[in-house]
Amino acid sequence: MFQRLRSDFRLSIISLLGLCGFLGITPFAVLRFHQGNLMAGTVDILILVGLCGAVAYAWWTGDTRRSGLVMAIIAAFGAVLVAGLVGDPGLFWLYPCLVTSFFLTPPRTAITINVASVLLMVFQVDAFSGFEQMGSFVSTALVVSACAYIFASRNEDQRRRLQHLATVDPLTGVKNRRAMDEELEIAQAHATRSGITCALILLDIDHFKKINDEYGHSVGDIVLVDLVRVLRKNTRKSDQVFRYGGEEFVLLLPGVDDNGIKTVVANLQQLLRTHVKHPGGSITASFGVAELDWGERVDSWLARADDALYHAKETGRDRAVFAEPRMRALPQSA
Ligand code: GH3
Ligand code: MG
Ligand code: MG
Repeated sequence: MFQRLRSDFRLSIISLLGLCGFLGITPFAVLRFHQGNLMAGTVDILILVGLCGAVAYAWWTGDTRRSGLVMAIIAAFGAVLVAGLVGDPGLFWLYPCLVTSFFLTPPRTAITINVASVLLMVFQVDAFSGFEQMGSFVSTALVVSACAYIFASRNEDQRRRLQHLATVDPLTGVKNRRAMDEELEIAQAHATRSGITCALILLDIDHFKKINDEYGHSVGDIVLVDLVRVLRKNTRKSDQVFRYGGEEFVLLLPGVDDNGIKTVVANLQQLLRTHVKHPGGSITASFGVAELDWGERVDSWLARADDALYHAKETGRDRAVFAEPRMRALPQSA
C-alpha cells in the first residue's frame, strides 16, 4: 500500500484529500444535524460518500484521472450547495476546493471547474450578506484560481519537459530505452488481454564503428538520423521505433503474423541499402526478430531477440534471424 502511494503521486493526493475532506467535513455534518439543518447535513453526508467513493475507485481501478475529476467536481459543487444552504459560513469551503482542483485535474479542467463554481455561487444570492461581500468573494476566488492556474501550468510544463528529456533520444528524436521498457510492458499486457500478439525487431548497423573511424562522428550521426527517418517512414502508425543504445534500434510491431514480419524485415533490409548512405556506400544491418510468446515476460522476449541478433552477427551480418518460440532449441536463419 505504501509502495503504491509512493510511486503514484496522483493516488497519494487523492487519498490525502479524501482523508482531509473526511476529517474536515464530518464534524460539520454532525453539527448541521445537531442544529436541525437536515438538508445541509444530508448534503455533507452525500459529499463525504462521493469523496470516499472516488478514493475507493482510484485504489480499485488505478484510474486516478477519472476519480480526480469526480472528486474535484464533487468538492467544488458540493461547497457551492452547502454555501447556498448555510449562508456565508459555507463560502470559505470553496477556497480549499479552488486550490485542490489543480492537484486533482489538469490546469484547464481545474480552471473551468473553478469559474463554473464561482458563477454558480453568485447565482445563489442568498449565500451572501450583501453585494459588497459578493464582490469581495468573486474577486478573491478568481485571484486564488488565477494564481493556482499559473503555478499549476508552470508545473505541468516542467513535468512535460522533464518527461521529454527522460524518454526521447536527442539525436534521432525517437524514444529511448527507458521509454521502451515501459512501452514493452504495456504491449505485453495488451497482448495478454487481447490475444493479439506483437513482434519485436532488434536492429544493429553492421560495422558502424568503421563509418565513424573513416568519415568522422558527424557522418555517423547523420547515418543514425537517416536510418530512423527510413524506419519511421516505412512502418505503420501503430508501430514504434526506439533507440536501444548506440547504433541499435528496436521496432515494436503489434498485430503482425509470421509472414507480415518477414515482409517488413525484407523490406527494411532493401530500404537501408538504397536509402541510408555514407561517403563509402550504403549501410547494412543485422536483425534479431522475436514474436511474443503467450504468457512470456518482457525480459525473456527481449533476450530472445537479442540472441537472434547475436546469431545474425555471428553468421555473417546483413541478415535476419527469427527466434524460435520458447522451449525450442536453436533459432533458424533466413
Ligand atoms: P557490428 O557489425 O559487430 O555491430 O560492429 P559495429 O562497429 O557496428 O559495432 P560496435 O559496437 O563495435 O560499434 C558501435 C559504434 O557506435 C561505437 C560507437 O562509437 C558508435 N556510436 C554509439 N553511439 C553513437 C552516436 O550517437 N553517434 C555516432 N556517430 N556513433 C555512435
Ligand atoms: Mg553494429
Ligand atoms: Mg551494437
